[in-house]
Amino acid sequence: RQPIIAIDGPAGAGKSTVARQVATQLGLVYLDTGAMYRAITWLVLQKGIAVDDECAIAELANQCKIELTPSHNLETPVRVWINDTDVTQEIRTIEVTSQVSAIAAQSAVRKALVKQQQSWGKRGGLVAEGRDIGTHVFPDAEVKIFLTASVGERARRRQQDFTKQGQPEVSLEQLERDIAERDYKDSTRKISPLQKAADAVEVETDGLTPGEVAMQIVNYYQK
Ligand code: C5P
Repeated sequence: RQPIIAIDGPAGAGKSTVARQVATQLGLVYLDTGAMYRAITWLVLQKGIAVDDECAIAELANQCKIELTPSHNLETPVRVWINDTDVTQEIRTIEVTSQVSAIAAQSAVRKALVKQQQSWGKRGGLVAEGRDIGTHVFPDAEVKIFLTASVGERARRRQQDFTKQGQPEVSLEQLERDIAERDYKDSTRKISPLQKAADAVEVETDGLTPGEVAMQIVNYYQK
């Protein structure tokens, strides 16, 4: 099979931008697993299901169809569909972001999505990005990267993303609080928490551009 590059790390560490650049440079497919958890969360909220109704959410996770259509240039986002609805923009709202960790902690949700991720990865050729890719989804990935950055830097990056997407402005303090809270939830949950794989290379990205980080990863891969 073709290689798999696993990129994990906390919210706002720059995973998406970096992973897309690495995929483009190496001719691999980019897989944003966070978008899948966000899509389910959007559907739960849209249907008015309580986020702690694990039974109803499990049923939804087992039945829904998620599609990610690759984008071929770095400026246009990967499109995300759930049950034939395009939710590319909707999954980035504050409402979805604030509820996604609670839903991603549910075992049935993880089971359904990980199964799909692994089936997409059967033949390899992926740069997969998330929280548990190197530890759980693709433990035999050829390259494992763990991206980190300070909370301040991550909040600044998120603020820039919001501006770019034309979303309402959120203060840095608020973003720092949200990020710290999501980190806490993602790293303390029972099933496959956010964690650096023992054999992952940690890259601290404060002060580096996504291009510089992507270059480090490509060099590391080609060694
Ligand atoms: O990466 P992104 O911020 O879009 O991820 C949204 C949320 O999805 C994370 O905060 C986490 O709760 C969940 N997630 C996960 N496992 C992954 C990817 C994302 O639990 N592999």
